Amino acid sequence: MAVNADYTERITRAQVHLQELGIDLMLVTPSADLRYLIGYNAIPLERITALAISPHKAPFLVVPRLEISTAKASPFGELGWEVRGWGENDNPYELIRTSAGFDRGKIAVDNHMWAERVLKIQENFVGATIELAAPIIGAIRIIKTPTELDSLREAAAAIDRVHAQVPNLLRVGRTEREVGRDIADLIVAEGHSRVDFVIVASGPNGASPHHELSERPIQAGDPVVVDIGGTMPSGYCSDCTRTYSMGDPGSAYRERYAVLQQAQQCSTDAVHHGAISHDIDAAGRNELAEHDLAEFFIHRTGHGIGLETHEEPYVGENNPTVIENNMVFSIEPGFYIEGVHGARIEDIVICTPDGPESINQQTRDLVVIEI
Ligand code: ZN
Ligand code: ZN
Repeated sequence: MAVNADYTERITRAQVHLQELGIDLMLVTPSADLRYLIGYNAIPLERITALAISPHKAPFLVVPRLEISTAKASPFGELGWEVRGWGENDNPYELIRTSAGFDRGKIAVDNHMWAERVLKIQENFVGATIELAAPIIGAIRIIKTPTELDSLREAAAAIDRVHAQVPNLLRVGRTEREVGRDIADLIVAEGHSRVDFVIVASGPNGASPHHELSERPIQAGDPVVVDIGGTMPSGYCSDCTRTYSMGDPGSAYRERYAVLQQAQQCSTDAVHHGAISHDIDAAGRNELAEHDLAEFFIHRTGHGIGLETHEEPYVGENNPTVIENNMVFSIEPGFYIEGVHGARIEDIVICTPDGPESINQQTRDLVVIEI
């Protein structure tokens, strides 16, 4: 959990960005952005809650009156800034406008704000120009603090403990759904507060990267792609893929898997301060291309991770993002051969001054289950 000084620092940095970009007011509704800025993990409700930040004034939080005590119990309550409640007969947008002393200018709104709220802002803040807050909050969130890195390492260790137990669950004849249900239980048992996704893709289903759990019974010789993740009580997410096989999957598969493992290593090795996202992707993609597997690698190499499973920075072809120390993202190449089989190897990697740090530590070898 971030300490109060972290939140104060984040708000100050947001204010600096607002000033630089000439934005007069930023409004953030319940989202990972709100949790990141003030530690308030508010549930999105039909009644608006919004954090208002202006470049030169103290931030304040506008909440429905019935949420005041919850808001004050969050870290925001200890930061010494004002919580303003609005009643059932009030216009909360009017309250935000007058409290912020907003007259005219630019308003930045969080990327996940509901469209109906954006329209209400447009209606109530006459003459305002509305833009996205992504360049402001994204620029801060993309670089992780030491506390955040530890939270991500903790999440990775928890999902590693789940993968360590997956071989006990994979049996010929069990369905993907049965195995998936057990994995979901383990994700919580190993310390996550929420299961975000469970992919168990056996045999030909492995050719679909986001395969949904099915009633297909796992068969002898099947490769099984297991991609799982959850959210820890800290709010930080885990995401890790390992590929298993029910006995010998055959020589063609074993050879392809070996190339994939090499490709995953090449992309990981390409991670360093100053590296270009495109080049990290290309390192693995070229390795696959040398073995005629590039056409079967049908997605980007990775995505950032933090309070959300998918966030900046993304790692992919033609992506010019410059990777910096303390950015965290997945390296997850795969191959997907329609109607035949597939594989993916995924680690979460921190870019450190000493190079890449893979925080998932279960073996990346094909895990062969004895049948
Ligand atoms: Zn991922
Ligand atoms: Zn994943």
